[in-house]
Amino acid sequence: MRSLPGISPVTEVAIGSRPLSLLAPVVSDGRLVELERALLRLAERLRGRTIWHVNSTADGGGVAELLFAMLPFVHGAGLSVRWLVAGGNPEFFTLTKRVHNLLHGGMGDGGSLGEGERETYAIVSNCNARRIVTRVAAGDIVILHDPQTAGLASHLALRGAKVIWRCHIGRDSDNASTDCAWTFLRPWLTSASATVFSRAAYVPRGFPTARIIAPAIAPSSAKNCELAPDERLRALIKAGVLASEGVEDGVNDPLRHTGEISRPRPRAATPVVLQISRWDRLKDMQGVLEGFARYVAPSHPSAHLILGGPSVTGICDDPEARGVLEEVRIRWARLPCEVRDRVTLLELSMDDPATNALTVNALQRHAAVVVQKSLAEGFGLTCTEAMWKERAVVVSRVGGLSDQVVDGRSGILLDDPADLRAFGSAVLELLHNRDRAELLGAGARKRVQERFLVDSSLLAWIGLLYDVIDA
Ligand code: UDP
Repeated sequence: MRSLPGISPVTEVAIGSRPLSLLAPVVSDGRLVELERALLRLAERLRGRTIWHVNSTADGGGVAELLFAMLPFVHGAGLSVRWLVAGGNPEFFTLTKRVHNLLHGGMGDGGSLGEGERETYAIVSNCNARRIVTRVAAGDIVILHDPQTAGLASHLALRGAKVIWRCHIGRDSDNASTDCAWTFLRPWLTSASATVFSRAAYVPRGFPTARIIAPAIAPSSAKNCELAPDERLRALIKAGVLASEGVEDGVNDPLRHTGEISRPRPRAATPVVLQISRWDRLKDMQGVLEGFARYVAPSHPSAHLILGGPSVTGICDDPEARGVLEEVRIRWARLPCEVRDRVTLLELSMDDPATNALTVNALQRHAAVVVQKSLAEGFGLTCTEAMWKERAVVVSRVGGLSDQVVDGRSGILLDDPADLRAFGSAVLELLHNRDRAELLGAGARKRVQERFLVDSSLLAWIGLLYDVIDA
């Protein structure tokens, strides 16, 4: 087997501790007691065994966000839970991004998944496994996330750990691309005791016992906690996102928090249309920009579009991000200046997760309309986050988004994500009709409260862990 240069080290992410009582304002007393008891019983049943999570990044995406939402409660309840970030190198991450795109049913980057790719995948997986198995004890439970970590399953099972593979992506129906990706991944997963998907429709052939657990958010986290209107304005002015209008701010150093790449900045009273996403083609930032420029800006006197995503220097497991941001920037630069001045592209620094979370929280709360015009979506946490903040959302009817939003009750679903005119008129309608936007925002919060808060997903995970221990 070849050797591969520059595989980054395995690192551990510190998991804080959060008491379940933080959920008291939004979860019923009965539910809280049920959760407390379930965690206590699980702690007794595990008797000191550790639950490990392994993924490929500590920031800038839904998986990291989910782990930050859930694990501090598990830790706070006295269980031993740890989170490792596996290593990789550019060749490996290009390959796993290809698998990711194929699992969504797209064409990927046109590259193949043949013998050479299997070898690259095996070399990096073996290297990560060597660095991880020594930390894991027989009887521990290891939850591996997404294609980047599937290659660790057999090594950890051999060590005596119970392995669960959690897939965060998928597509409602098979096509040649998904078949190709599953043919590549399936052999690595034969030693997994269980698999978990976000939606039933995502379960491919050959995983008869797969579980379904919908991703959820923690209302108490820095990303989702309440922010008074003046707090969020201050945060956005300080971050250089909004114009200062005489308030003490970061105007002398607007790049301090955000790495903002375009101006001018909107004023506090300007209605903002927002999409927050990784710089991934499937999120279609380019389409949002185009739809806004063609169909929103000409018909609204002042609306301003903000496209925000993680700094492209911060995310090493997503090799396409830089190119996608550059494409959006080029298109932005070619817009007529009267439209260009109404669009902000933000590269949000990931150096300080707390500041990033506060900025995203404030942006979502400030926006008049939040959009997620993805071409494919496993499960859009950005949408859940905005819904929790009672925002009116306009999202594509793709993947998890079509479960998250009930059209006309908790947001607007776009049947065809490529239909820019329909996108524009949905956004315009909500900008003009603020009563409807408010009604949809209230429906959105209710829907998240009922289905997509962390208590539901914790209970589902506890049930699965019992089954795996007892198997
Ligand atoms: N996110 C963030 N900073 C950014 C961009 C995204 O914190 O600059 C977070 C966002 O708030 C959400 C997650 O990354 O929690 C993205 O999750 P989602 O499920 O929407 O998409 P994924 O990245 O998993 O495809």
